Amino acid sequence: MKKFVLLAGAALLVITFKYADHPGVASKLSGVTLPFKVAMLYAKEPDVELSVPVEGVSVKQIKNTWHAPRSGGRLHEGQDIFAPRGTAVRSATAGYVMSVGENALGGNTVFVMGAGGRNYYYAHLDSYAEGLAVSDYVTPGTVLGYVGTTGNAAGAAPHLHFGVYTPGGAVDPLPLLKDTP
Ligand SMILES: [Zn+2]
Repeated sequence: MKKFVLLAGAALLVITFKYADHPGVASKLSGVTLPFKVAMLYAKEPDVELSVPVEGVSVKQIKNTWHAPRSGGRLHEGQDIFAPRGTAVRSATAGYVMSVGENALGGNTVFVMGAGGRNYYYAHLDSYAEGLAVSDYVTPGTVLGYVGTTGNAAGAAPHLHFGVYTPGGAVDPLPLLKDTP
C-alpha cells in the first residue's frame, strides 16, 4: 500500500511540475507510465553534486545564465552550456529516462528523473544517443545525445540547455555542478 501511494505521488508530482521555460512538456510526461523504480527514487536524498553534462566543459567555463530574461517575460530556468555542435551530452546523474522527444522551445529534449524525484532536463539536442528510450537507467556519464541548436536555439551558438526541476520548482544547476574527474 505504501508503495502504491509513493507511485501515485510520483506521478502526480511529475504532472504538476511547472515547466515554465518549456511549456508542453508536462502534458507529454503525464502519458508516461512510471516504472515502480522511479517512485522509489523519491525516497532518496537528491544529488548534491552533478557532473557537468557536456563533454570537455569545466564548471568555470559556464557563464551563469540562470534567470536571465527571455522572450515573453520568461526567466531562464536553467544553464546554457556552450560547446561545438555534436559534442556528447552526458547524464549529470543516475536515474531513469522519463521522456525523449520534441517540444517547441526545447527542440530535441531528454528528461531524466534522479534521486529525490528531481527531473533533469537536456534541451536543444542535435540528436539523441542511439537507442535511447524511456525507462532506460542511466548513470553519470551515460551519453544522452549531442549538442545542437534545435527548438528556440535555432540561429544561436550550439549549446545544451540544462535544467533541474525539483518537486517544488526549478533550481539553479550551476552551484551543484562539479568538474568530471
Ligand atoms: Zn537555455
